[in-house]
Amino acid sequence: MKHLAGIYIHIPFCATRCHYCNFATGGYESELARRYTAAARAEIERAEVSKKPEMRRADTIYFGGGTPTTLTIEQISDLIETCRQTFDIAPDSEITAEANPGSVSQNYLEELRAAGVNRLSFGVQSFDDGELQMIGRTHSSEDAREAVRMARAAGFANVSIDLIAGLPEQKLETWRRNLEEAFALEPDHLSVYLLELYKDAPLLHRINRGELRAIDDELTVEMYFALVDEAERQGFEHYEISNWARPGFESRHNLKYWTGAPYWAFGVSAAGYDGQTRWSNTRNIHEYLAKIESGQSPVAETIELNEDDRQSENLFLRLRLKDGVDLGEHQRRFGVNTLERYRDEIERLREAGLIEFDENRLKISRAGTVLANEVFAAFI
Ligand code: SF4
Repeated sequence: MKHLAGIYIHIPFCATRCHYCNFATGGYESELARRYTAAARAEIERAEVSKKPEMRRADTIYFGGGTPTTLTIEQISDLIETCRQTFDIAPDSEITAEANPGSVSQNYLEELRAAGVNRLSFGVQSFDDGELQMIGRTHSSEDAREAVRMARAAGFANVSIDLIAGLPEQKLETWRRNLEEAFALEPDHLSVYLLELYKDAPLLHRINRGELRAIDDELTVEMYFALVDEAERQGFEHYEISNWARPGFESRHNLKYWTGAPYWAFGVSAAGYDGQTRWSNTRNIHEYLAKIESGQSPVAETIELNEDDRQSENLFLRLRLKDGVDLGEHQRRFGVNTLERYRDEIERLREAGLIEFDENRLKISRAGTVLANEVFAAFI
């Protein structure tokens, strides 16, 4: 396997729950965080026993959540150190922490950088204070601007911002202002997600009660293309459907998810892949702690992929990327001639203008990016 592995560590604590959030997270309590960090460390150490030779070397560590920066510097350092003792971590590894703009100080960020974290991903979501309040974020737009300034002052050369498009009541002008503010901060990377609401989301209840108006698909598409065009003007590469980066600042960790690289997963709800099997841990923190503390596995689900599943995944995951699928390489790796195997689907998608060919590469087209699920479904 030519890729080095990635390591994902889930930190399931937040100050409060945002009104759209369906992640495995809950309120921060220092004693629970202490027990949790010890459990995550034990889970990492146990990987020593089971790890396959091709997963021994890793070049990314990603603290996701939740809000990883609810942990103390000592706890984060301890987890990084445990990874270094358990795996062969490349010296130039990308080590990312997601962070909430309202809850970091200059001092904390300096210590985080000194602990080895070299990439920050700020959950900004919006620069409009009314929108931030509506979705239950605890920070303001000024907190976000200040957090990015502090990150730079602390020596972070790789800073990413997350935004959400398609919020209730959002207008094209407010969205454009969000983009202006985001690019004015000169981030290195931008991730933009379209709002999706799970059935019990408080924000959905407000929409259902008529207190907020959901925006229509047409406007969401306009917002997406406003972003695509503005990012291009700003010199960002649109390297994945929802991700933009200045050249050289693509997320090395997230690229592993789309290119079939293996990745470890530690903590509540974390999902891993070893090139053959996908697995995910329990979403319940108390069950996670009980399992780890009694020496059992926290894995709740395991899916074995056969050769055909893997080739299918290679197609629809790589179609998320700007470079698309190298059909020659796909055939060499899986023995599948994509154009023959998916002849009817490809013809239909090409006629609809959703995919295109670039020499021997199959790519999603500009129009296809907003109907991506329809494109992917053709290859499943
Ligand atoms: S900060 Fe992120 S993980 Fe935490 S509640 Fe809000 S959306 Fe969910």
